[in-house]
Amino acid sequence: MTADSLFYACPLPGCRAGVTDDPAVPCGDCLKAFGPYLQPSGTPAPRRSPEDTARLLAERDATVRAVYRAREARWMSDRAASALGTEDA
Ligand SMILES: [Zn+2]
Repeated sequence: MTADSLFYACPLPGCRAGVTDDPAVPCGDCLKAFGPYLQPSGTPAPRRSPEDTARLLAERDATVRAVYRAREARWMSDRAASALGTEDA
């Protein structure tokens, strides 16, 4: 759950679907799409509150989000330079 959402996000990277109660459980669409490919790790997951799980997932994804933001900024900069005809040769 984030400040801009009332729901926990699906824990699978790249999925933006909301799940309502447990951020450790993938959303129904992911469960349907990946079916038996989603397997428990074999070791019992430690019991965490939904808030702690959401925090850990956010920390897991922070680096990837930062890279996406940097790439988007670079892409926007390159497009602006291209439109102005000032890109490097
Ligand atoms: Zn999902």
